[in-house]
Amino acid sequence: MMRYSGLRVIMEGLRGNTGWKPAWRDPEPKAEYDAIIIGGGGHGLATAYYLAKNHGLTNVAVLEKGYLGGGNVGRNTTIVRANYFLPGNSEFYSHSLKLWEGLEADLNYNVMHSQRGLINLFHSDGQRDAFVRRGNAMINQGDDAVLLDPDGVRDHLPYLDFDNTRFPIYGGLLHPRGGTARHDAVAWGYARGADQRGVDLIQNCEVTGLDIANGKVTGVQTARGAIRAKKVGLVVAGRSSQVAAMAGMRLPIESHVLQAFVTEGLKPVIDHVVSFGMGHFYISQSDKGGLVFGGDLDFYSSYAARGNLPMAEHVMEAAMTLMPMIGRAKVLRSWGGIMDMSPDGSPIIDKTETEGLFLNCGWCYGGFKAVPASGWCMAHLMATGQPHEVAKGYRLDRFLTGHGLMDEEGTGAQHNLH
Ligand SMILES: Cc1cc2nc3c(=O)[nH]c(=O)nc-3n(C[C@H](O)[C@H](O)[C@H](O)COP(=O)(O)OP(=O)(O)OC[C@H]3O[C@@H](n4cnc5c(N)ncnc54)[C@H](O)[C@@H]3O)c2cc1C
Repeated sequence: MMRYSGLRVIMEGLRGNTGWKPAWRDPEPKAEYDAIIIGGGGHGLATAYYLAKNHGLTNVAVLEKGYLGGGNVGRNTTIVRANYFLPGNSEFYSHSLKLWEGLEADLNYNVMHSQRGLINLFHSDGQRDAFVRRGNAMINQGDDAVLLDPDGVRDHLPYLDFDNTRFPIYGGLLHPRGGTARHDAVAWGYARGADQRGVDLIQNCEVTGLDIANGKVTGVQTARGAIRAKKVGLVVAGRSSQVAAMAGMRLPIESHVLQAFVTEGLKPVIDHVVSFGMGHFYISQSDKGGLVFGGDLDFYSSYAARGNLPMAEHVMEAAMTLMPMIGRAKVLRSWGGIMDMSPDGSPIIDKTETEGLFLNCGWCYGGFKAVPASGWCMAHLMATGQPHEVAKGYRLDRFLTGHGLMDEEGTGAQHNLH
């Protein structure tokens, strides 16, 4: 196993960088595995990694229809936080943030996790009350939250428009351990760690069918032939409904587009993650200097990984309202990803009615920060057959029975509002 270190970088620099090896192998698929993970995004790769690391299951394949990290894991705005309010979500995201804090050492990979602090702004007395309650819930969960008055916000974010007559800033909730990480490095780090433990990562291998006999999964059909396995994890984010339909399942998931935007590189100007309370807008600055920001979903279901201009205009308007200085920056590029939206805005990690077939989906637009805990809990479920303690609320049947719904936003059952 090749370990990365500062010393190795110096040594390789001295000998013309001839000693580096590919970060993972490019194996041919075997005829059979103990477990197959469909989807080489963050959640699929993390599941494979923890199956091998925590449960000693190494005869595992990740089947990815494109290239590793080409989906949402490499398209998001990189925000990592544990500021959830409801039981069920709180303990899960708290667990995830603790895993993030040890991730680079665990993977021996620089995922550029930066705990620069996240500030959620509020603009009315009602919003302040809601954020006070959220902050208390975070503290009760063992995470951190600090209530800021307008002067406290001004100390951190002097460049905001505080006196906006329509949306004056009443204060903010600071989550000091929140921040960002480099999104595709997370996929690469987990891929490398899984590969080193013997997992086969198979790219350009679309799953086209699920083999099921007598109520049990027996394998998958792929663009590279049939592969047998008694355990199959369906971890395909925005494509969840399509792949589940191969097992005759109709999921309570809608796929929606979410866009992200990046400006030209600028000198350091925004050193937190900032979230606007009166419009769907959030922003941070990447290490390269680009301002990375996003807003709400485009308001229609789609499988196109690109968005439309009305939402781009809406996001720019929110940006200008909050920080007029941003109008001087040039937007360099934008892109879209396909969100797997659930009716209550919370995810699903569960068994299905088909024995051996497991489901991981419904991450909406918050699934990047969930990657470590999702992989951890999905691996636990696939290896032991039992839900992990911090993910036991993520049952699929809550949408059938109505028991245990976790509607964090309080917006009801309309997928695109979560
Ligand atoms: C613009 C944008 C901003 C976001 N911002 C944030 C944020 O700031 N913070 C946050 O926490 N979350 C954010 N998210 C959400 C987060 O990125 C997703 O919830 C998360 O990445 C989804 O899980 P994943 O990484 O496994 O998905 P993906 O990377 O999409 O992985 C799924 C994989 O499955 C593969 N696949 C699909 N069908 C098949 C098949 N039939 N056979 C084989 N493979 C298949 C796909 O090719 C894909 O690679 C954002 C998302 C977007 C698009």
